[in-house]
Amino acid sequence: MLEVSHVTKRYRKVCANDDINLTIPDGEIGVLLGPNGAGKSTIIKCIMGFLKYEGQIRVNGLNNKSVEAKKIMGYVPEIPSLYPNLTVDEHLEFIARAYKLKDYKEEKEALLQRFDLADKKKKFGDELSKGMQQKLSICCGLLPRPKLILFDEPMIGLDPHAIKELKLLFQELRERGCMVLVSTHMIDSIEELWDTTYIMKQGKIASIVERQNLQGSDKSLEDIFFEITEGADAESEV
Ligand code: ATP
Repeated sequence: MLEVSHVTKRYRKVCANDDINLTIPDGEIGVLLGPNGAGKSTIIKCIMGFLKYEGQIRVNGLNNKSVEAKKIMGYVPEIPSLYPNLTVDEHLEFIARAYKLKDYKEEKEALLQRFDLADKKKKFGDELSKGMQQKLSICCGLLPRPKLILFDEPMIGLDPHAIKELKLLFQELRERGCMVLVSTHMIDSIEELWDTTYIMKQGKIASIVERQNLQGSDKSLEDIFFEITEGADAESEV
């Protein structure tokens, strides 16, 4: 289980995350939905342990900054950060060595096949198109088979086939018992995928929407999102 408790992150005068609380149980997909600047990337970077913050974050009971926790965490950043002088294959081999993976070759080939990179193994990082870079970044995040995986705006730049594969993959991760957290501002892209959506506004979680509670409601996630982000400040639970 991912447990984020009372996390506050300030960049000088800007409060990017204001007392964030969220929980993702095993086998569930959480979504961070919010307009530009709402604080989605910041909370993801806090969970990954990249930033200093107030509050507490635990992954399966482990401090998120511990090596033990990092071994079970994966991250797909908003902007792919590849090595220009490593090939596609070398990126994945590098990840395999960093995580000391054994028996990863089959998984590596399956990921490359799935994201249409199998014939691009020898291409260098700086020879890849934007979409190909994003696909390789996704493959790098998934190769260690993390228990918790954080995707920051993963659909941006992907072609329709890759979006379809990614959506299938989210479902497989859920079935595998992984904890998944996806940030987006594109409501359509996550339809049917999520268990709990955290709607963020101005650094706060303005509303928590549970899929099971929405099913009996006449409102869609989109209706709730616009009520919250275009309406008066509100903190509610649906
Ligand atoms: P987007 O959808 O545009 O990616 P976001 O919801 O991910 O936005 P964040 O990137 O978390 O939002 O930014 C939250 C706030 O923190 C914004 O006001 C932003 O300007 C500010 N911020 C983010 N990174 C920094 C930084 N390195 N230094 C100063 N302020 C920052």
